[in-house]
Amino acid sequence: MTSTGLTTHRHEHNHDVRVEDLRCPGCGEPAIPEPPEDRPRAGGEFSHSDGTALCARADGTAAEPIEVAW
Ligand SMILES: [Zn+2]
Repeated sequence: MTSTGLTTHRHEHNHDVRVEDLRCPGCGEPAIPEPPEDRPRAGGEFSHSDGTALCARADGTAAEPIEVAW
């Protein structure tokens, strides 16, 4: 047993997602965790920072933002 204090293993995908790291998968614009003002029902829970719905997928479903990997 060592006690260096550095044995904690952190999974790479287990960190907190920061809002400022979210991007629209369609256009790459920043995304905010607010329903879009123009399509509050169909646009999902995220929108562009100007309040418009994220760019929809090809099948018409609401896009989910991607997290930017720095
Ligand atoms: Zn977009």
